[in-house]
Amino acid sequence: MHPRRLTRQITLGDERVGYVKIGGGLPARDGTPTTPAPVSVQTMTAGYTHDVDACVREIHKLAAAGADVVRVAVPEKKDTDALRHILPQVRVPIVADVHFHFQRALEAVEAGVHKIRLNPGNITDRAQVIDVIRACKARNLPIRVGVNEGSIIERKDKQKRMKELGAVFSEHKHGYLLAIMIAKLEEYLDIFYEQDFYDIAISAKSMDAALVVDAYTEIGRRFDHPLHLGVTHAGPRETGAIRSVAALSGLLVQGIGETIRISYASDPVYEVEDGLELLYALGLRPRKGVDLIACPTCGRIQVDLFTLVQDVRKALSEKVTVPMKVAVMGCIVNGPGEAEGADVAVFAGDRRGIIYVQGEKVANVPEPEILDRLVAECLGFQGRVLRGEAKLGEKKVEIIPPDPIGELGSGYAKIASGGVPTPLTVRGGEG
Ligand code: SF4
Repeated sequence: MHPRRLTRQITLGDERVGYVKIGGGLPARDGTPTTPAPVSVQTMTAGYTHDVDACVREIHKLAAAGADVVRVAVPEKKDTDALRHILPQVRVPIVADVHFHFQRALEAVEAGVHKIRLNPGNITDRAQVIDVIRACKARNLPIRVGVNEGSIIERKDKQKRMKELGAVFSEHKHGYLLAIMIAKLEEYLDIFYEQDFYDIAISAKSMDAALVVDAYTEIGRRFDHPLHLGVTHAGPRETGAIRSVAALSGLLVQGIGETIRISYASDPVYEVEDGLELLYALGLRPRKGVDLIACPTCGRIQVDLFTLVQDVRKALSEKVTVPMKVAVMGCIVNGPGEAEGADVAVFAGDRRGIIYVQGEKVANVPEPEILDRLVAECLGFQGRVLRGEAKLGEKKVEIIPPDPIGELGSGYAKIASGGVPTPLTVRGGEG
């Protein structure tokens, strides 16, 4: 991991919903030092903002999933009107996503929103942009300037549009798109600087993961504002996850990116869950809840591990809040080595499971009882951690396999022929 990029810091929120800081490390305008904030996770509601009750429910759901910031679309006046009823009911900073109509930004500011997102591709009138900047400045609200690939090409001036389209469909598509993105961003930000406004975050999204990496790398070199990372229109979760992680992790490991949004054509709760998991995996946020390790299974498996893993994940994600490591392993052959270090582990055998809690064997149960017993052991361990009677990661599951892997071969035949002792010989100990 490269050191985090130092940026200006923006703050959004209020006393009631709390404050979320984005970026940091460079001194504020008045010289006050700032400390880089943890990378935050954002998402966007999928429903209509003017449907107040449904919107509030969705925001609650996203905040409960761990979203630090939630954005809502405000295409019409009825949406910004709804903000007045939504904002007092939620407990997370809200961003108004504004396109085409600068009045929506002014109305959202009046309603008490915590941040505005403007698109330089469709709010281009200088006087209108200045109006929005002044309104935000008067209330200390930050603005995200989001240049999306999809809206960056000129729409009104036909001659300019043909020229830009001609350029991006040339063989240098990637380079031209990047050049247009940067040029429009620079031109737009000049308006902000002229107004002495620096509470800015920048995004430059595309559905092309490689372009996203190049764009943010270049923007990170040119500007000291925090960067909001994202791959736009990434698709359904099944493919969008890979597209997003390819781009975002490539940037985050370089120390680039102060807040992220993963976007899926799916329930935005998945955006939050996967965004957090990405940050946990890279060590950029301390984990909340279970760190679940599970084997992919192979020809040695003798229980329905896929179902067990899903059931364990669901049960523990609802009940466990401490970052304990839990391993669900399909067999005793490779499982032990891979599960070493787990606080709680189950090793499946011939339709049975042997459960360990920090190196101590606590149960050997038939397959139908594995889930309930494992969950009960995890909750019991969590209780001891919370009471200060146990420490996470203090003792390791240390296993001595019953048989070298080579000798065991595929395992299945040997297990079937009784070549493996029953119950499986697994020994726990302190690490
Ligand atoms: S060897 Fe065992 S632990 Fe490894 S994948 Fe196969 S069943 Fe799972």
